[in-house]
Amino acid sequence: MKARNPYTGEIDYEFPPTSPAELGTICTRLREAQPGWQRRGLEGRAKVLRKFAAAVARHRDELIESIVRDTGRYGISVREAALEPVIEREIAAAFEFAREETLGETELADVVNRRQLASYVLVGNITPWNFPCSMAFLDTIPALVAGSAVVVKPSEVTPRFIDVVERILADVPELAEVLAFVRGGGLLGAELISQVDYVCFTGSVETGRKVYRAAAERFIPASLELGGKDPLVVLAGADPVKAAASAVVGSCIASGQICTALERIYVAEESYDEFVAAAVACAGRVEINYPDIRKGFIGPFILERQADTVRQHIEDAVGRGAEVHTGGEIIDHGGKWCLPTVLTNVDHSMKVMREESFGPLIPIMPFSSSGEAVRLANDSEYGLTASVLAGDPEEGEEVARALNAGGVSVNRPGITLMVRGIEQDAWNASGLGKNRMGREGIRRFSRSKAIMTYGGPDDAVAPALARQVFTGS
Ligand code: NAD
Repeated sequence: MKARNPYTGEIDYEFPPTSPAELGTICTRLREAQPGWQRRGLEGRAKVLRKFAAAVARHRDELIESIVRDTGRYGISVREAALEPVIEREIAAAFEFAREETLGETELADVVNRRQLASYVLVGNITPWNFPCSMAFLDTIPALVAGSAVVVKPSEVTPRFIDVVERILADVPELAEVLAFVRGGGLLGAELISQVDYVCFTGSVETGRKVYRAAAERFIPASLELGGKDPLVVLAGADPVKAAASAVVGSCIASGQICTALERIYVAEESYDEFVAAAVACAGRVEINYPDIRKGFIGPFILERQADTVRQHIEDAVGRGAEVHTGGEIIDHGGKWCLPTVLTNVDHSMKVMREESFGPLIPIMPFSSSGEAVRLANDSEYGLTASVLAGDPEEGEEVARALNAGGVSVNRPGITLMVRGIEQDAWNASGLGKNRMGREGIRRFSRSKAIMTYGGPDDAVAPALARQVFTGS
C-alpha cells in the first residue's frame, strides 16, 4: 500500500499490508500470552507499561519526526505533533482509575458472592488519521491496564509512525507479547473485528455503522467514538472579543481536523456584530505552516479528500447566501491548506451547519434568546461535545444542562476531550458504548462474574426445593 505525504502531496511511502493470515497468527499469539499478562496483576502490568513509557521517551524525537511526516504539521503554536507521544501521561491516568480485579464480596443469608472481573482476552483497536499516534494509544493503554491483549490497526492514511512504535516495542518484549500493530485499510479492519473479543473504534459515522453491525453479528461489545458537529454558544454576558478569539482557536486547532473542534458558532444578537468583527480580525492573522512547517497555526489537510469536503461546504453555503469574510479558498502547494474561513448569513439548510466539515471553518449565526440558542445547538444528528461561553458561569451551566452532548464545557471551549478523569459519553450519531475516560474507560474491558458459594455439600440442593421435589409438599 502507498501513503501520500500531506505536506508535499507526493506518494513517498510504501508499506506491505498485514495479510488476513498474518493477522490470524498475531491474534493467536496475543491470546496465548494474555493470561500471563493478566496474572502479572496491576502492579506488574504498571511496571511493564512504565518501561514502555521510558522507551517512548528515548525515541521521542524519532517518533515526533514520523508523526510530522504522517500529518504535515509540527504545530509551533499548539505543538500537535509534539503533544502526540504523551504515552506516559495516558499510562499514569489509566492506573489512577484502575481497580485491581478485586473480589468484591456480598454476603446474603446462605451465600457468599465473590465478584470477579475477568478481562476480555483480545481487544481490537481501529483508529483514524487525525492524531495517528495518540488515537492509537487512547483506548489501548486502558485495555492493557485492565489486563487485555490488544491489536491496533491505525489508519492506512498515516502509517509511518507504526515503524517507530514497533522499534520501541522491541525494547519492551514483555509488552510486545500482548500488544501488536497491524497495517492496512478497511478490509483489514473488518477482518480484525472477526478475530477479537471487544472492538474499540474511532472514526467516521459511516464506518462506525459498519463496525457496529459486524460486532453485533459476533455478539461482541463495541466502543464507538465517531464524528461531531460541535456547537459553541456565546451568551450575551460573555466578552465578545475574548469569545471570538476562543472561537477561532477552537475551530482551527489541528486545522479543524479534530473531532471536538468547534464546527458552528451561535452568538447572542446583542454582541453579534462585535463578535464577528473580532473573529474576522483574529482569523485574518492566522497563517498556514507553509513554507516553514514549524511556523503557522494551520497545517495541511491530512486526507486530500477532506479538502474537497471543505470546498463543497463553502460552495454550498455561498450558493445559499452565506458571506465569506476570510479564507474561503483551498490553497495548493502540493499539499492542500485552507485558511480560517469566517462565514456569516448561515442557516441550518447549509451543509456547513449540519455535516462534519473537519476543517477550519467558522460559521457564525445570531440568536435572540438562550432558548433559541439551545434549539439551534440541539438541531443536529451529532452529540459529541458542546461549549458555552457566559459572563455568569451559572447561566452558562443552565444552558449546558439543556444541550444534547456527552461533554459540555462552560467558559473554556473545546477542552472537554482533554480531561482524562471525567467520564463523558458520545451521544447520538457521535458514538455508542461505554465511554473511554475515567474509571469506566478501564472497567469496560472486563466482564463481571459472580462466584456464589454456599455453605457445604449439605447445602447442594436448596432445602425448600428439595422438600417440594421429594415429598411433594
Ligand atoms: P474512517 O471511518 O474513514 O476510518 C477509521 C478507521 O476505520 C481506519 O483505520 C480505517 O482503515 C478503518 N476502516 C475503514 N473501513 C472499515 C471497516 N469496514 N471495518 C473496520 N474498519 C474500517 O475515519 P477517518 O477518516 O480515518 O477519521 C476521521 C473521523 O474520525 C472523523 O469523522 C472524526 O470526527 C472521527 N474522530 C472521532 C474521534 C472521537 O473521539 N470521537 C476522534 C478522532 C476522530
